[in-house]
Amino acid sequence: MKKHIVVLAIIALLFSMFQVPAVAAKPQSDTIHSGSPFDNKIIKRFDSKRAMQHISYLSEDIGPRVTGTDQEKEAARYIQQQMERYGYDVSTQEFDIANRMQGQLVTSMDDNELAIRIATGSSSTTEEGVSGAIYHAGLGEPGDFSEEVVGNIALIQRGGLSFWEKVEHATEAGAAGVIIYDNADGLVPPTPSLGDNTASIPVVAITQADGEALLEEIEGSEVTATIKISEITNQKSQNVIAVKKPKGKPSDNHDIVYVTAHYDSVPYAPGANDNASGTSVVLELARIMKGYPTDKEVRFVFFGAEEIGLVGSRYYVSQLSDNELARSTANFNLDMVGTNWEEATAMFVNVVDGAPNLVWQSANDAAERLGNDSLILFERGASDHVAFYEAGIDAANFIRREPETAALEPWYHTPFDTIDKISQDRIQEAGELIGSAIYDFVRKETPRGKKGQGVNKRVGNYLLNEEPVRNR
Ligand SMILES: [Zn+2]
Repeated sequence: MKKHIVVLAIIALLFSMFQVPAVAAKPQSDTIHSGSPFDNKIIKRFDSKRAMQHISYLSEDIGPRVTGTDQEKEAARYIQQQMERYGYDVSTQEFDIANRMQGQLVTSMDDNELAIRIATGSSSTTEEGVSGAIYHAGLGEPGDFSEEVVGNIALIQRGGLSFWEKVEHATEAGAAGVIIYDNADGLVPPTPSLGDNTASIPVVAITQADGEALLEEIEGSEVTATIKISEITNQKSQNVIAVKKPKGKPSDNHDIVYVTAHYDSVPYAPGANDNASGTSVVLELARIMKGYPTDKEVRFVFFGAEEIGLVGSRYYVSQLSDNELARSTANFNLDMVGTNWEEATAMFVNVVDGAPNLVWQSANDAAERLGNDSLILFERGASDHVAFYEAGIDAANFIRREPETAALEPWYHTPFDTIDKISQDRIQEAGELIGSAIYDFVRKETPRGKKGQGVNKRVGNYLLNEEPVRNR
């Protein structure tokens, strides 16, 4: 056992030697902490430097953590190891995920692999993919195609027609594949939807910049492209779960509180803010709270597969027994709490139906005690709190946004969601504020009559994430 600890200490030392220089020193907060003695048990111990090390490991050492990939599993393992170091028994809960498309676009221009999004409704290809000369087909009107496109790759500008109409015309003209380039400047390609249609050829989208570079190149010489798209089947994702039991309570009649964050990311995005930030704060709160007796059971749950439609959290909630559901009091979900985007001065408390609930009340009370005036109650789904809300549990998501417009940082879901866009001060602020709210809530019983809605299931059509579906 001792040997084990020594090895861990050496690893921790090496880790800190290599990680710390990349990260600023713990900031001097100029907030006046007027919280209660209970708040100070969290505030005095919340260490945003440790949180930054988690964000660094997840977003830099691992990088993008796409659902079902080895990188997502590696992130789950990292979280499990951290929680075990804090003294928790940790379990992982595996679940199946839907098949997904994975693809690649390589052109003969500098042998360049371009960032793509695969259209929903695209066909897959053989392993070799489809190859051909890139043919410029304007906006994809029927008159934009000549015989030259037969067996080749049509490069079509977005706009005017729907994506499906462009693909239909290209298919009729005999194209072997379609590349749609954006008609507006963007950090990432659009995600085209073909509606309910299924194409018989592969369809991918690229950015305006990449599209215009290709156009320029084919003016002078032939450029070929190879599109490969494969369907990945039988993949699994996993949730990581650690339970902190209440002091001196029978195991079957105490309240349960869920403190949650997802750790997966979208393709190409290192996911520093979305959502290594929330994951890091939950890890740090779990570390601190391990030693404190509470009246409620606290479950720290780290979800996979959030980005493909809240799959991990919905699976987790679906596996709760009626008895567990009846004792479930609240879900504090953290998703994107650390952006340094200047405009994001507010901490939104997103509630699915917009109505104040126990989580909001607890957060609002903590904000008052701490003299923090950044909270905004807001009606929004689009994260894992939806799964708990649907099961009748009071739930909210904490997320930094621009107060007037509710906008997210411009690099949301892009390759630019990197650790240099994280504010350690705001991570500290999130940890102190949300941590004080959670600790105040779990350390004591919730008075009768003040509990949430129980097991009345609520359903609705909620946004799964902030990216709109585009048909044209
Ligand atoms: Zn997220």
